[in-house]
Amino acid sequence: MVLTVASQLLGDNVRILKSAVSKTAYEGVVIAISSIVVATSLASLYGMGEVSLAGIMIAQKENFGLWILDSIPFVFGFWGQYSSSIIAYQAGAMIYDQTQELRNKTENLEKRANHVITHDPLTDLPNRALFYDRVERAIFSAKNKNRLLSVLLIEIENFKDVYDTLGRNSSDIILKQISTRLQGVSLERDGVAKIDGDVFGILLTDIADLRETEQLAQYIQKAMEQPFIVERLQVVMHSNVGIVHFPEHGEDVDTLVQRAGVALHIAQSSNKGYALYESSFDRHSPLRLTLMSELHHAIERNELELFYQAKVSLLSDELYGAEALVRWHHPTHGFISPDEFIPMAERTRMIKQLTSWVLKEAFRHCANWHKQDINIKISVNLSAKDLHDPELPDLIAGVAAAAGIKPEWIILEITEGSVMSEPENALAIINRLHSMGYQFSIDDFGTGYSSLAYLKKMPLTELKIDKSFVMDIVGSENDAVIVKATINLAHNLGLHVTVEGVESQEIMAKLKDYGCDVVQGYYLNKPLSFTDFNQWMSVSKWKPASHMTKQS
Ligand code: C2E
Ligand code: CA
Ligand code: CA
Repeated sequence: MVLTVASQLLGDNVRILKSAVSKTAYEGVVIAISSIVVATSLASLYGMGEVSLAGIMIAQKENFGLWILDSIPFVFGFWGQYSSSIIAYQAGAMIYDQTQELRNKTENLEKRANHVITHDPLTDLPNRALFYDRVERAIFSAKNKNRLLSVLLIEIENFKDVYDTLGRNSSDIILKQISTRLQGVSLERDGVAKIDGDVFGILLTDIADLRETEQLAQYIQKAMEQPFIVERLQVVMHSNVGIVHFPEHGEDVDTLVQRAGVALHIAQSSNKGYALYESSFDRHSPLRLTLMSELHHAIERNELELFYQAKVSLLSDELYGAEALVRWHHPTHGFISPDEFIPMAERTRMIKQLTSWVLKEAFRHCANWHKQDINIKISVNLSAKDLHDPELPDLIAGVAAAAGIKPEWIILEITEGSVMSEPENALAIINRLHSMGYQFSIDDFGTGYSSLAYLKKMPLTELKIDKSFVMDIVGSENDAVIVKATINLAHNLGLHVTVEGVESQEIMAKLKDYGCDVVQGYYLNKPLSFTDFNQWMSVSKWKPASHMTKQS
């Protein structure tokens, strides 16, 4: 098509140029004929004394030079025709070549501009716009052919930490390496896209068996397991994969990608690191997803508050301490339980900011009580993620120094699970804080995979028996046996025991019989704000020890 148009164009140009050259040739012929007429007329006048036909004929016969002149119009005519054709073709071809070159250049520029707006500049992978476009087309074709397709979202969970630690250049190198690994494991190389700073997408089309997608998620996790090498450092990246299938989970690209995002959030807390979307996940979104971003501002907007719940010593009948429990008063959603937003914060780096706020607030309140000679220990909950943050000991030391806190006033509550995931690192952090004088308590004991081996390795002071075992010890012999045995076990390990979830005087009396050291629960008080807790202390029968009558 392009060729026929081009050759037609060339033909037209040749015709125009030829006629222009031919016109000049014709003028040449007219000039030549006029010269012959003038020359022969002059020859006739010169020879015969007049210009007549007979004189012209004689002049023609007798002057050989005029013959040459006579042939000139023919030479002009022929030469004009010949050269006009050549020039016209040459000029036409030149114009054609130049036009073609210009056209190629324009096409290349258009392609490049198109590439720039549809690709990620760093990895050269398709960007979000192109990915959506491809998924849309794939849906259209899958509908027609009655085929299945899957969309996977891959998020690099610790990317922001790596970026903060190693900087832009190194994290760019890692992103490029990730993109190569993802292209390596994906069957359709074109299906991989980078749709956000640290989120990749993969489109799988024409799937025969949906298990293929799950297998791909496993391959992705395998591929990511190997550390990334950057500036001679080995960096381990953690990825999560959210999976959706068409048409099962959505019939348009927006629904599919949004639900893959929901699955991604579920994957963050799953052991496998990947999750297939289920409609029951929807309670995690979109409210939860928007909450997540709002948590960022909750601290600045003063929406968080620390509540305190009393811990009473059964040995001395005194107020032993209080556990700090965070609360979020959301301006539109009202009260949000820490059980909801702590796990959310734990999945992102928000937890660091949250823990830092809790530590500052709890230490400030604690220092305030000690200034008034209220000698109580304040328990602060640390999250699993906190124990993998090497900066935690310095953070705590800094906050304590600023507030005027002595480490022995503080108990840090940790759970077994938080130590299990990366025991070496967590233990190093715990040991450092312990050497600084902080005490550790193992929280929710009995609910996780209790490993006595780890318990023995940790420098613990306290073991907290979870409320789920306690609330029914009056009714359930089984629970009573577990609690009693756990108290003995803890004592044998040299730990003192706090039992939480004490909701009645009866439970408290039983626990005293079992040799429990400290109790905490609604029977004493529900968690209260700083002001209310002060008020509660002033009227409570359990009085705090004074620094004068020091307790253990
Ligand atoms: P946890 O550390 O096991 O805290 C004890 C939870 O049990 C608290 O729930 C408390 O209100 C509740 N509780 C205490 N006594 C009783 C009782 O007699 N009966 C019943 N039914 N419940 C009782 P809360 O305050 O909702 O906290 C839930 C969880 O949120 C905490 O469990 C803890 O894991 C987490 N959390 C709370 N504050 C923080 C924090 O500042 N940082 C971190 N990392 N986690 C926190
Ligand atoms: Ca706790
Ligand atoms: Ca607990």
